[in-house]
Amino acid sequence: MNRTPEASGGARIDLQDVRFAYPGGAPMRFDLAVAASDIVAVMGPSGSGKSTLLSLIAGFEAPTGGRILIDGGDIGALAPHQRPVSMVFQENNLFAHLTVAQNVGLGRSASLRLSAGDHEAIADALARTGLAGKENRLPHALSGGERQRVALARVLLRRRPVLLLDEPFASLGPALSDEMLALIAALHDEQRMTVLMATHDPHDAEKLSKTMVFVDNGTVAGTGPTADFLAGNGSEAFNRYIGRRGERKQAPATK
Ligand code: ADP
Ligand code: MG
Repeated sequence: MNRTPEASGGARIDLQDVRFAYPGGAPMRFDLAVAASDIVAVMGPSGSGKSTLLSLIAGFEAPTGGRILIDGGDIGALAPHQRPVSMVFQENNLFAHLTVAQNVGLGRSASLRLSAGDHEAIADALARTGLAGKENRLPHALSGGERQRVALARVLLRRRPVLLLDEPFASLGPALSDEMLALIAALHDEQRMTVLMATHDPHDAEKLSKTMVFVDNGTVAGTGPTADFLAGNGSEAFNRYIGRRGERKQAPATK
């Protein structure tokens, strides 16, 4: 897009001794530092706490202890919509009764009171994500890949400094998934937001991320350059995780 309302840039993220447990579940505890504008792959076994980690940052879950800082400011008291964060899930990112253009427009105004400039920005975002001509469709009339692209078009308009992606392409085929990764890389080139993407796919991690965060048993069990982890120089536990995946020849069922 050539019209950029404001340069957004990325934000630094710090989790300091963040504690959490689901009722009856095992305690989790996260310490993590992510540099501004980094692209991070969050990998780890099913049930290890990847989604929980992202939900804590997004504010869908509240820690029982510790602090979450974005650019040094404690965001603990902020509701999800007040946080400088966008999140895209594996599916169900869209409102079923709203058109593509309206779903994207929510990135600008929660009440869909949109200015002429907003409508222009929506059209730009739809063109950018390959959705031109589909603005009046309802989500059920789109493919899974198109629905995810609508979610990304909305992210484009929100221009938040942090983008959280929770296995966003797990239900798409490999070709589509590559297309989406390229789109995210292009959005990152443009907006420089800090990206955390939970994925089970080493290929996705390799293509997109610079930094690996390995989550195991409800904690951050390792961080470092993605290339090092994927070359087998990360940690024993990570190698076991990747090795198990290799034996199965496909990604485990995701939650
Ligand atoms: P991952 O995303 O790595 O697969 P999750 O963060 O979804 O892992 O889950 C971490 C742990 O918390 C798992 O043991 C899971 O069963 C449990 N869990 C996840 N969501 C809930 C929930 N809403 N209520 C209770 N337990 C949950
Ligand atoms: Mg998950």
